[in-house]
Amino acid sequence: MEKKAAVIGAGIGGLAAGLRLRHLGFQVTIFESSGKAGGKINEFRHNGFRFDMGPSLFTLPELVDELFGLFGKKPEDYIRYDKLDVITKYFYEDGLILNAYSNVNKLAEEIGSKTNVPPEATKKYLRDAATTYDLTADNFIFKPFNSETLKSKKFWKAALRIRKLNVTKTMHELNKKYFGDARVVQLFDRYATYNGSNPYQTPGTLSVISHLEHNLGAFFPEKGMYQIVESIYRLAQEQGIEFRFNEKVQEIRTAKGKAIGVSTPEGSYDFDLVVSDADIFTVYKKLLPDKDVPAIQRKQERSSSALILYWGISKEHPELEMHNILFSDDYKKEFEQLFNAKELPEDPTVYIFISSKQVPADAPQGHENWFVMINAPADAGQDWEQEIAAARTRIIRKIRRVLKTDIENHILFERQLDPVMIERKTGSYKGALYGNSSNNKFAAFLRHKNYSSGIKNLYFVGGSVHPGGGIPLCLSSAKMMSELIDKTSTS
Ligand SMILES: Cc1cc2nc3c(=O)[nH]c(=O)nc-3n(C[C@H](O)[C@H](O)[C@H](O)COP(=O)(O)OP(=O)(O)OC[C@H]3O[C@@H](n4cnc5c(N)ncnc54)[C@H](O)[C@@H]3O)c2cc1C
Repeated sequence: MEKKAAVIGAGIGGLAAGLRLRHLGFQVTIFESSGKAGGKINEFRHNGFRFDMGPSLFTLPELVDELFGLFGKKPEDYIRYDKLDVITKYFYEDGLILNAYSNVNKLAEEIGSKTNVPPEATKKYLRDAATTYDLTADNFIFKPFNSETLKSKKFWKAALRIRKLNVTKTMHELNKKYFGDARVVQLFDRYATYNGSNPYQTPGTLSVISHLEHNLGAFFPEKGMYQIVESIYRLAQEQGIEFRFNEKVQEIRTAKGKAIGVSTPEGSYDFDLVVSDADIFTVYKKLLPDKDVPAIQRKQERSSSALILYWGISKEHPELEMHNILFSDDYKKEFEQLFNAKELPEDPTVYIFISSKQVPADAPQGHENWFVMINAPADAGQDWEQEIAAARTRIIRKIRRVLKTDIENHILFERQLDPVMIERKTGSYKGALYGNSSNNKFAAFLRHKNYSSGIKNLYFVGGSVHPGGGIPLCLSSAKMMSELIDKTSTS
């Protein structure tokens, strides 16, 4: 008889976990408290517009493809995606505009022709980021970090080249070493925000993120980001995974130190194995009433959150790309406000994502769907109503100043997502986008493991545990979880 596994949460981590377990031969049920799959990867439609609500940048698509391969399916029968030529268009307050091309030579030439940074500096930076990635990926990003790691040859190879890992420098210090122009430093510092961290604190090792985008490429699905979820969800249904939507797990049932099932308002269910995709803080605080959040987790700082305004825009802006950044003038101050004062920045870096540039069906003709995001602190009980109203005014002023457009006259409708809503919708503790931040050199090693050390048959996936947040790492967490189970069941 097939063993039964419960997955709590149908975020990308939970969907991937369900498929991995199915592939191992489990009968899988996924419990999801909301009415649809995706968690933070979500969409809404209004008056002929479609908006991706969460992630907009897609790297390492082969990790999605891998899920189809498990069942002998062709990924292209489910999802197609394009590689972007210009990844992001950067606008600075002093009038500089930089197109961040996917192609490294073009990017280096663009930076070289508009600043005093020689093209070779950009090329060397990205070559070195590739080396850092090669040394860390197999020890850390795609493998559990544990006593086995310390025995592996790959780990010692990396340890012997520790200087290449840039652990002791902050990302900002590292970037300053390569680039003699503060604006180029700012461009590469921004990658710290890809896991909700502060470039003035996070280690230089995180330069691997720029390697993913520029050396390996940034992609976009033909029908927008939510297609990633739709394609995997379809595969899960075809493989016989059961989905129980609108059914919130209230407790992970345990007996004699083992997970034995879950209970929901609709009943109590027996399972041989439980995997949670819910935020690890929420798991300890709400689903395991006899367990406390481990002290080491409690001490970690939460990653940043976000304020997003979704605008239906009655005009086209040919001067913009799909991904655009309007940089703040004082990046250091922006991060001090976010992580120390825990307030929305006075001069925020504004990210404008317009999927209709790539997917014309996402907005009516002559219109655009603007996703306007600024970094926000995790929720600490701020007066959000007042903070958001003031930030909205500053965002509109910044767009007017930098893009020379009076956008307010073209906003047909507006919706919003803020840290409190993110927590309410997805259970993400304090509305953090990526679990814990990586604002110290040990943080990346201190994420919760993909299994419970106190309760047998209980596993964890998703952005709040090892190896971290973001779509690729969530997919990697599900793979690691399945490898741990495979090993236990065959040993
Ligand atoms: C605005 C925004 C922008 C982002 N941008 C990017 C980006 O560009 N690129 C990128 O790679 N990543 C990005 N991210 C991060 C990325 O979205 C997340 O890291 C990832 O989607 C998290 O997936 P997950 O599986 O960990 O969990 P989640 O997506 O948080 O899903 C958890 C699911 O569990 C459900 N759940 C929780 N508790 C229970 C319970 N008790 N019972 C049943 N169900 C439960 C929730 O309803 C939810 O559906 C962004 C996130 C946000 C919010």
